[in-house]
Amino acid sequence: MRVIAIDGPAGSGKSTVGRALAARLGLEYLDTGAMYRSVAFAALRQGVDPDEVESVARIAREIELRLGPDGTVLVDGVDATIEIRGPEVTRAVSIVAANPAVREELRSRQREWARKRGGGVLEGRDIGTVVFPDAALKIYLDASPEVRASRRSKEVSDLSYETVAADLARRDALDQGRAHSPLQVPDDAVVIDTSGLSVEEIVGIVSEKLG
Ligand code: C5P
Repeated sequence: MRVIAIDGPAGSGKSTVGRALAARLGLEYLDTGAMYRSVAFAALRQGVDPDEVESVARIAREIELRLGPDGTVLVDGVDATIEIRGPEVTRAVSIVAANPAVREELRSRQREWARKRGGGVLEGRDIGTVVFPDAALKIYLDASPEVRASRRSKEVSDLSYETVAADLARRDALDQGRAHSPLQVPDDAVVIDTSGLSVEEIVGIVSEKLG
């Protein structure tokens, strides 16, 4: 099984690089953040508070998820592609992601996804540390908080830079400080600061590591 694990904080370039790398290598790509976002979306839609540990865990176990190669996301048959990136889900997702039972369920779905395909490019926060500690290649992408916030605020045009920067800082703190599978640099990862690099340059650096 050939797994490429990409971890890093929001706005570090994981999705763009992950998709480009998967296309170059002829592998499939999985955005695991979209899975956590989908659980948060389903909880909000059912009127369940993201803090309700048992109910959110049940939702994670029961949810039917379809992640298309073009980035479309169907949650229990409902197109959630736009809404999972919206402010409500973004506010709730790190609370949902700190729930160990949610993590356990999604981790097993991620392993199953890769097993069925003989590998793939997976991106998230705990792929190289927890989900696939034996990945063929582990990449950790980072960038300065300012660069990350400015990338994100270009994607979400209806929010101010300040709002986006504050949200990123809050999510960074929650994702790095949680008890279960916090965001960490895997010991054996290739660490790339993407602040001043183009996608082609980053993919080039990673391809060299692959040999
Ligand atoms: O990558 P993205 O910003 O869409 O991820 C949304 C949230 O999902 C993160 O802030 C984090 O709380 C959670 N996440 C996680 N583990 C992963 C992927 C995402 O905890 N492997």
